[in-house]
Amino acid sequence: GKESKMTTPVSQTATKNRQWLLASRPVGAPTLSDFNFVESLYDGLHSMGYKQPSPIQELAIPIILNNRDLVACAQTGTGKTAAFTIPILQHIYQNKQNEKGRRKIQALIVTPTRELANQIDEQITVIGYYSGITSATVFGGTDGTEFGVQDRALRTDGANIIIATPGRLLDHIKMGHVDFSKVEFLVLDEADRMLDMGFMPDVKKIVSELPEKKQNILFSATIPDTLDHFFKALTNDAVRVDCSVARTASGVRQIVYKISEEIRD
Ligand code: AMP
Repeated sequence: GKESKMTTPVSQTATKNRQWLLASRPVGAPTLSDFNFVESLYDGLHSMGYKQPSPIQELAIPIILNNRDLVACAQTGTGKTAAFTIPILQHIYQNKQNEKGRRKIQALIVTPTRELANQIDEQITVIGYYSGITSATVFGGTDGTEFGVQDRALRTDGANIIIATPGRLLDHIKMGHVDFSKVEFLVLDEADRMLDMGFMPDVKKIVSELPEKKQNILFSATIPDTLDHFFKALTNDAVRVDCSVARTASGVRQIVYKISEEIRD
């Protein structure tokens, strides 16, 4: 009855929720070694200590590996960053030409804050280390020296992956210094925060500079109507991963993922 519920110890509740989370994983849930990534990528994942994919990774990684556009609802703390960085690193490794000279930007990740940009960059640096894939950050609020460093990364040294906040990237674009002609992946990370922070006009200008033919990977904790319209216009036949998130009394998060029929098996 009511009374026994009230006296349920927090630890027991937490355990129950964890079982619920485990029970919600598909039968035969994969480990990261089931994905057949290149060895050098596994070396990077090993450095991070990742063994099992998180639920969002389990869903998103195969979709991105299959070259599909993705609209995914995921909160910070779910492992959403690796859900897009891992398959992008795998793709870039496979598509890497025996390029001499400067690297071309193959993936652009746009994110609302410099802290997020740094977190994403740090993860890519470790996971991509053994694959020889390089990344660079471009964000505002830094002094003139940093602008020069960013400018060199974009123009001279080159990087496979650029992680940027919208305003500063647009400054570099306006100077005519960014070559987006080889971009194969666009990631918008925490799109709802970019909307809240008033960055959408800048994001749209950046998107208009990118090749039409590319894979669009869009992550947001919530998808209000304005974003939904923008996402629909941007993507081509996207797979959507929707989730409803509830916080329990013990602070354990329960996540229900609803995915479209075609990727269920
Ligand atoms: P995020 O939601 O991307 O901010 O990630 C939250 C935390 O989970 C970060 O500290 C990641 O390093 C960590 N993480 C992401 N994927 C995995 C994984 N497969 N196994 C263990 N930890 C992970």
